[in-house]
Amino acid sequence: QITPDDALALPLRLSAVQRNRATGLGPAGPLVLEFPPGLNAGTVAVGDWVLGDPATNRILRVLKRRSLLERKVAGIEVRAQLIAANVDTLFIVTSCNADFNLARLERYVALALDSGTTPVIVLTKADLAADSDELVADAKAISPHIAAVLALNAKQAEALDVLRPWCGHGQTVAFVGSSGVGKSTLIGGLAGIDLATAGIREDDAKGRHTTTARALHLMPGGGLLIDMPGMRELALFDAAEGIAELFDDIEALAGTCRFRDCSHAAEPGCALQAAIAAGTLEAGRFGRWQKLQQEDARTNASLLEAR
Ligand code: GDP
Ligand code: ZN
Repeated sequence: QITPDDALALPLRLSAVQRNRATGLGPAGPLVLEFPPGLNAGTVAVGDWVLGDPATNRILRVLKRRSLLERKVAGIEVRAQLIAANVDTLFIVTSCNADFNLARLERYVALALDSGTTPVIVLTKADLAADSDELVADAKAISPHIAAVLALNAKQAEALDVLRPWCGHGQTVAFVGSSGVGKSTLIGGLAGIDLATAGIREDDAKGRHTTTARALHLMPGGGLLIDMPGMRELALFDAAEGIAELFDDIEALAGTCRFRDCSHAAEPGCALQAAIAAGTLEAGRFGRWQKLQQEDARTNASLLEAR
C-alpha cells in the first residue's frame, strides 16, 4: 500500500488519539502527530498504522486496516465510534460464576467476527466454579470460528502463559467483557502495568473508578495490547455479517422456508419451526438469533432516521 510518494514518510502505529493530535510509535520512539484537514480523532483509532511526515510531524495518511472495532453511540444521532484498529485477537472475557451468559457471549463473538478480529473466549474465576468444563463446552459450541475457549484463574501467574500464544511479536490483542470479570487483572499482568495507577482515572456516575483513555501497550513478548476501557455498554453496530457467520446454519435453513419473508413464527412451511420440532435446532439458540437480528435491525433503523 506504500507508494513511491510516501518514500520519506515513517510508518507509525498510533498508541493514543486525542482531540487534535495522536501519538505514533515508530522505530525511533514516540512521535506526536497533528491531524491534517479531513482527519481527526473521529476518523483514526488507536492501533491504526499511519504514514507520518517527520518534517512536519503530520499524519499523511491512514493505511488500510486489517480489522476495526467500532461501537454504536447514541446521542443526538446514532453514530459509530472507532474503538481500535488492527486488533488480531479479541479476548472475550466472562467469569465462570455470576457473569456467564451465552447470549452476551454470542453478541461479542458476532462483533469480533464482524470487525475482522479472531475471537478467543476467556472464562475467568475457574477457581470459584465447579462446572467450568461444562461452560467451556457451552462456549465452544457457539461457533467453529472461536479460536479457543480458555478457563483460568486470572489471579494466578500461570493464567498469563495460557494467553501468551496470542500475544507474540507482531500480534495485537484487546479485551472486552463486563466489569468485574478480571480484565484489568489480565491486562495488568500481560502489559506489566498497574492499571490502578496508569492512565487517567475518574469517578463515573456509579462511583466506580474507570480509566477513560484507550492506549496501546507493549507486552514483554513483543506483542501489543490495546487497553480500551469503557467497553461495557458495547452495542452491535451493523453487525449483520458477524451474525450471519455465527448462525450460518440457521440462516441457511431460513432460506428454505416456504415464504421468503417468513417470520419463523407460525407460518406454514417454516423450516426453522420444523427443525425445532424435530429436535435438530435448539429453541434457545433460535431465540437468541432472532433477538440479535432485531437488535441489529433497530440499530440500523435509528441510523437511517438520524441521516
Ligand atoms: P475488570 O473490571 O474486568 O477489569 O475486573 P478486575 O480485573 O478488576 O477483577 C475484579 C475482581 O475479581 C478483582 O477483585 C480480582 O482480583 C477478582 N478476580 C479476577 N479474576 C479472578 C479469578 O480468576 N479468580 C478469582 N478468585 N478472582 C478473580
Ligand atoms: Zn421460517
